[in-house]
Amino acid sequence: MSSQQFDVAVIGAGAAGMMCAAVAGQRGRSVVLIDHASRLAEKIRISGGGRCNFTNAGAGPQHYLSQNPHFCRSALSRYTPQDFIGLVKRHRIGFHEKHKGQLFCDDSSDDIIAMLKAECDAGHVAWRMPCSVAQVGKSGELFRIDTSAGEILASSVVIATGGLSIPKIGATDFAYRIARQFGLKVVETRPGLVPLTFDGRGWEPFVELAGIALQVEVETGVKKERGYFLEDLLFTHRGLSGPAILQISSFWQLSTPLTLNLLPGVDVAEALIAGKGTLKKSLGNLLAQWLPGRLAEGWLKVNGFDSGARIADMPDKALRRLGDSLNRWVILPSGSEGYRKAEVTLGGVDTRELSQQSMMATKVPGLHFIGEAVDVTGWLGGYNFQWAWASGVAAGSAV
Ligand SMILES: Cc1cc2nc3c(=O)[nH]c(=O)nc-3n(C[C@H](O)[C@H](O)[C@H](O)COP(=O)(O)OP(=O)(O)OC[C@H]3O[C@@H](n4cnc5c(N)ncnc54)[C@H](O)[C@@H]3O)c2cc1C
Repeated sequence: MSSQQFDVAVIGAGAAGMMCAAVAGQRGRSVVLIDHASRLAEKIRISGGGRCNFTNAGAGPQHYLSQNPHFCRSALSRYTPQDFIGLVKRHRIGFHEKHKGQLFCDDSSDDIIAMLKAECDAGHVAWRMPCSVAQVGKSGELFRIDTSAGEILASSVVIATGGLSIPKIGATDFAYRIARQFGLKVVETRPGLVPLTFDGRGWEPFVELAGIALQVEVETGVKKERGYFLEDLLFTHRGLSGPAILQISSFWQLSTPLTLNLLPGVDVAEALIAGKGTLKKSLGNLLAQWLPGRLAEGWLKVNGFDSGARIADMPDKALRRLGDSLNRWVILPSGSEGYRKAEVTLGGVDTRELSQQSMMATKVPGLHFIGEAVDVTGWLGGYNFQWAWASGVAAGSAV
């Protein structure tokens, strides 16, 4: 097979890769987009419960985790949520805001995939898909890419193969391998936005709470490492999930506890003690005013209280202990559900190796990394796609 030559080869046709290819193609560069999957942009398809939370109207650098928190600033300020919203509107895709600036498609994530595909078509992007990549090398000014569709030569290569999350839909460590091959550092990776699990026996008493959801405050870490969120929590059979836990999981370090407030805004101990004289209710009835009934019952049982006991008969010390258990529940997760369930991968190609304007490796002219492959990870809520779009545009404008 004879080799084919392009200005730009983008490896990975997900969110960042398609955006980058479209921008470069529409600038008049000849672009080839390579992906090993047989279905296009599967992660966009499954995102946001099938409706793709494609950006967050308030996205800014403060919503990202990285060893180098300022790195994302430049790309995010040059391609903003408003820019992406403008694109979505030009393609007449209906959308709505769900929660805290999170924008979702009215119909389906497929609309975003079709939009990106149309933008690539407008840039005359050539496709190689499904197509596997065996090797990427550089000789002189040109990169040589060994693929199942033959050798491809390109002046610039953009690696947009994402992170390790959800291997069953094609996630690989390709970006990290290529980075290391070219002598670039990779920040250790771990699953992010992921349900947390607890030691089997320690969690046993909580198993019967599975399915209960409520709004909580959750925090972990201190100073720069501190994470705090007011979001919904979900009890599961193996541990905790829901937006509060997914958010905090990205901040959580092994052996560090989480502190949860199951009743934000209520000082439970104070309310119980103050009510002793006037409240004739049982503990179970009183807690059920504030908490889902099943949780009130389960919580009292787990903490050794009799749900039928009258508050008036309880010593202050016991009421204080009950109040603290709800307002300051300190728990130590034993692990997470891992990449199988993680929405994102923390860590990745070290940003100190890359130009924040072009996402190019400063040591390897022509080699760029974008999207989730890079050590920039957003919170839950549309921030990860905004990073994919913004870093894709940054590289697409520079190649
Ligand atoms: C279940 C789920 C729901 C999510 N929902 C949201 C959401 O609503 N909003 C949000 O902002 N973020 C969401 N995310 C995160 C978001 O999907 C990712 O951050 C984003 O897709 C990253 O874009 P990317 O282009 O870097 O990587 P990806 O979109 O993962 O694309 C990488 C591409 O590279 C290809 N590839 C991988 N390895 C190779 C290889 N070796 N050779 C060739 N091709 C390869 C893959 O097939 C894939 O097409 C969700 C993630 C998951 C798992």
